[in-house]
Amino acid sequence: MNDIIIIGGGIAGLTAGMYAKRGGMETLLFEKMFVGGQAATTYSIENYPGFIEPISGPDFAMRMEEHARKFGLEIFYDEVKEVVVDGKIKKVITDNKEYETKTIILAMGASPKMLGLEKEEQFRGRGVSYCATCDGTFYKDKVTAVVGGGDTAVEDAMFLAQYASKVYLIHRRDQLRASKILQDRILAHPKIEILWDTVVESIVGEEEVEGITVKNLKTEERSQLELDGFFIAIGIQPNSELVKGKIQMSDDGFVLAGETMATNVPGVFVVGDLRYKQIWQLVTAASDGAVGTLSAQRYIMENFE
Ligand SMILES: Cc1cc2nc3c(=O)[nH]c(=O)nc-3n(C[C@H](O)[C@H](O)[C@H](O)COP(=O)(O)OP(=O)(O)OC[C@H]3O[C@@H](n4cnc5c(N)ncnc54)[C@H](O)[C@@H]3O)c2cc1C
Repeated sequence: MNDIIIIGGGIAGLTAGMYAKRGGMETLLFEKMFVGGQAATTYSIENYPGFIEPISGPDFAMRMEEHARKFGLEIFYDEVKEVVVDGKIKKVITDNKEYETKTIILAMGASPKMLGLEKEEQFRGRGVSYCATCDGTFYKDKVTAVVGGGDTAVEDAMFLAQYASKVYLIHRRDQLRASKILQDRILAHPKIEILWDTVVESIVGEEEVEGITVKNLKTEERSQLELDGFFIAIGIQPNSELVKGKIQMSDDGFVLAGETMATNVPGVFVVGDLRYKQIWQLVTAASDGAVGTLSAQRYIMENFE
């Protein structure tokens, strides 16, 4: 019988696994693609405490994996297709096998919402980014654009304007959804130009982003912007399909949990970007992972021993 099964091998899941094995728990981790999750897809990380020099996403993920394996974490490369969460003993089901466990830690993360443009996936990391706070500093004295109209897009544009020579904020409507205070700031910002009623139609470039074409929805006029960086801030979407209808979620599908990472279902915990919270970063994912495991451990002590 497993004590903990972790679903997802991103930074939250790997941290949970490391804590679990170090704490002597029978633990398995399932990952459907590659360990590191979103972190492994980023070019450079420079805001994780203790890493003074920038580290590439894949290297960072490798180190996290190595650290977890050092304590004996078993990582199964298999997609979890179903979970049975009612009852004291839970089940985790893949195409190959069914596993029993006392607790489950959900760490399936999230995916940035994509615009769905041709070349968007191809140029991800080569001018297309979904994280201004992560990649913004690479665009010192360059021209960038952010697409979106909420708080995140506005904050991203202002963050980028600290480095970039010019930032376009592209929004499909004639007013922003962002809070009033942010709107006031962005409207007065000398480096930021807002393109209202505008949609992005394509990304231009051979090997990397060189520009985008946009269309004004009111005038139908099309134009091309020359850019070095194109940031998409239209939200992230949680990978919560697996537990839909089984666990309490927010309207947009993030799993609800408080300080202890416990969901509404006893014995099921959620960590990382899948959890409903304000800040989705590596350091908060790792923190969730540690807290989730310690809470699962406490739950096992109280309910099984
Ligand atoms: C391009 C980019 C750059 C970023 N840069 C930074 C940065 O510099 N600094 C920073 O602090 N934050 C950065 N972030 C945010 C940070 O990467 C995330 O907050 C963090 O990685 C979330 O980790 P996670 O483990 O919760 O989820 P994820 O990284 O999303 O990992 C979830 C994992 O679960 C797996 N999975 C999903 N479903 C299943 C299933 N059914 N069965 C098995 N496995 C499954 C997925 O394959 C994935 O590997 C960046 C994000 C992006 C997209």
